[in-house]
Amino acid sequence: MCTLPKIEIQNYIFPKNLAMLTPFTDDYFMKKAFEEAEAAYEKGEIPVGVVVVINDRIIARGHNLTETLNDVTAHAEMQAITAAAGFLGGKYLHNCTMYITLEPCQMCAGALYWSQISKIVFGASDSTRGYRKFGVQLHPKTEVKSGVLENECGELLKRFFIEKRNLN
Ligand SMILES: [Zn+2]
Repeated sequence: MCTLPKIEIQNYIFPKNLAMLTPFTDDYFMKKAFEEAEAAYEKGEIPVGVVVVINDRIIARGHNLTETLNDVTAHAEMQAITAAAGFLGGKYLHNCTMYITLEPCQMCAGALYWSQISKIVFGASDSTRGYRKFGVQLHPKTEVKSGVLENECGELLKRFFIEKRNLN
């Protein structure tokens, strides 16, 4: 069982006057996805977390559960796509934004394609398993933003793999 040291979210500071007008920033929702990643970390899962947002409201959350469920498809994004579609009562995630702590893999990018999601925002890039390396295309309607809380999201993953190596 891993213990979770507290992580400082150094960039998570709003200008005071701006925060009054727009509390629901990309940083705000990425922090929520990060909390999901922390929940995965505490379970000994690769720490990746996701939230799905529509009209500034979180309608689905998820974190990686591949070990817990013995299911290679149990990535955070896959679960959140299903949960969000269930919430909306329709298969397409139009007008939704998914916040993901790590660049999606090929499988999740494929599922996101089919969902026709309006926007994805991810934190850390994944140069080995990320969808961009494989030239996977998202849906033409899907807008992409990367690098939100990139350091924090990446550090949690790095720490997980260092600890895992030390245990073996
Ligand atoms: Zn994936």
